[in-house]
Amino acid sequence: MGAAYSSCSTHSLTFSSQTLFSFPTITTKTSSKSNLESKFNTCLYPTNKISNTHLAKPIKTMAQTSFPCSGLAVKCGKVEEVETQEEGCVRKPPPMFDYHGIDLDLIQEMVYDSLVWSSLHGLVVGDKSAQRSGKVPGVGLVHAPFALLPVPFPESHWTQACELAPIFSELVDRVSLDGKFLQDSLSRTKKADSFTSRLLDIHSKTLEINKKEEIRLGLHRSDYMLDEQTKLLLQIELNTISSSFPGLSCLVNELQRSLLTQHGEDLGLDPKRIPSNSAVSHFVEAFAKAWNEYNNPRAVVMFVVQAEERNMYDQHWLSAVLNERHNIKTIRKTLAEIDAEGELLPDGTLLVGGKAIAVVYFRAGYTPNDYPSELEWRARLLMEQSSAIKCPSISYHLAGTKKIQQELAKPNVLERFLDNKEDIAKLRECFAGLWSLDDSDIVEKAIEKPELFVMKPQREGGGNNIYGVDVRETLQRLQKEGTDGNAAYILMQRIFPTVLPTFLMRDGICHKDHAISELGIYGAYLRNKDKVIMNDQCGFLMRTKTSSSDEGGVAAGFAVLDSIYLT
Ligand code: ADP
Ligand code: MG
Repeated sequence: MGAAYSSCSTHSLTFSSQTLFSFPTITTKTSSKSNLESKFNTCLYPTNKISNTHLAKPIKTMAQTSFPCSGLAVKCGKVEEVETQEEGCVRKPPPMFDYHGIDLDLIQEMVYDSLVWSSLHGLVVGDKSAQRSGKVPGVGLVHAPFALLPVPFPESHWTQACELAPIFSELVDRVSLDGKFLQDSLSRTKKADSFTSRLLDIHSKTLEINKKEEIRLGLHRSDYMLDEQTKLLLQIELNTISSSFPGLSCLVNELQRSLLTQHGEDLGLDPKRIPSNSAVSHFVEAFAKAWNEYNNPRAVVMFVVQAEERNMYDQHWLSAVLNERHNIKTIRKTLAEIDAEGELLPDGTLLVGGKAIAVVYFRAGYTPNDYPSELEWRARLLMEQSSAIKCPSISYHLAGTKKIQQELAKPNVLERFLDNKEDIAKLRECFAGLWSLDDSDIVEKAIEKPELFVMKPQREGGGNNIYGVDVRETLQRLQKEGTDGNAAYILMQRIFPTVLPTFLMRDGICHKDHAISELGIYGAYLRNKDKVIMNDQCGFLMRTKTSSSDEGGVAAGFAVLDSIYLT
């Protein structure tokens, strides 16, 4: 099926944009306390609470634009339609999920309402085109990219994914305690990849001084795709650092539920089939509980951030709710600032700008770009040496690398870390084919049929993987070079999810396209010595991308935020 799918030629028809109605630049007001509370205590922020006087609809003269080539016009302020999948390649979904068959007037109404909703509820990111949008909150906001309607997803696979979350969190914790396993498994990668090498150096230092993390906090996200042919839910990767979108995924979930509450009857869809998303509440609860365990009432939670962050509102949702519900303060610092302002007291307390840090939450530090100089590495080491609770610790970070994912998939490795046989079987069931490049048979197969594989370096954040003919070329180049270079990569079976019709919203423009989706399940884990304080599945993120796109990052611009409709 994989080969058949990828043999479908894709084409792109871009219709020239025609502006019938210009949506104004989006600006949001800071939500009041009660707004925040209601947002995350109840599933749905009732749209009808917003004064109607603010919601002047576009004049209903958005006359239907028709595109003779396809008859697939989407009316919106700006109209742009991209069709990247030939009709013949897509299996027709059940009528209610055949979203492209929905009446265009209705789509247009939903498009407009969804843009208003996003603006009023903080489903926003910094706008690329506004210079200060990644630095100054409130400047240059645009709605986050999202899908208009939820992706149908089988309830059984949803339940399966949710059940896996606490098992993966437990696994990460166990693996993190085995310093030798981490160092040995990554020893060849260390030679080929300087970033992994620096992380391992920090890890070695903690081993040398026998540093023990008694309080351990993990906020992970395990990502899956549902393979169409085998109907297997297969793991893409496990993120143990900077798992993004807990904030905005909750909002997309509410947005889509709100649209279905208004239009569900016309669409034949029931809003109750969208499961609620508790990511913000759970993340905040995890921070608060960790902060309590740290037990210093004056200490704060520190978000380690990039100097420019257009996804800052996703993070601000966490700090705002943490402050509101628990009166716990957050500070935001870059690695360079931590280097300049940080100090370690003799008892291990980390002070930054004079404030004691209870929890260090990394939303930076996962990519070499975050370490442009030695300053940043010094800051990372300083935090690691402190008694602050690191989310993640260097061991948790390493346990989430792609190389460790591949090692854990080898026979009998899970058994080293977990006792419960059922848990082990559940994890194994979701492992896709994963190989090291030492496996010459697999390398030969991948050279022969590169479209069935993905080649992955030890990187996070999207845009780094190698697909298609590039897999063949890279493997052949590495073979010729015959050095340690191949230890920088792993090979993975390519997963082919069902292609479905969708409407993708980006920059106020609705794109009608065919897309595939990736489900991420968040897991929160908190432990103090022998006591597991929290180990829960805690919300989810659906990301949808056009089926012609290989990569899947929302922030990197490849995908949109989405939610699910249980079938
Ligand atoms: P990153 O750490 O950069 O997020 P991922 O392993 O998640 O790396 O890969 C990035 C994206 O590439 C995924 O979100 C997914 O869309 C796509 N991808 C990764 N692995 C596979 C695979 N085995 N089959 C199909 N697509 C994949
Ligand atoms: Mg990923």
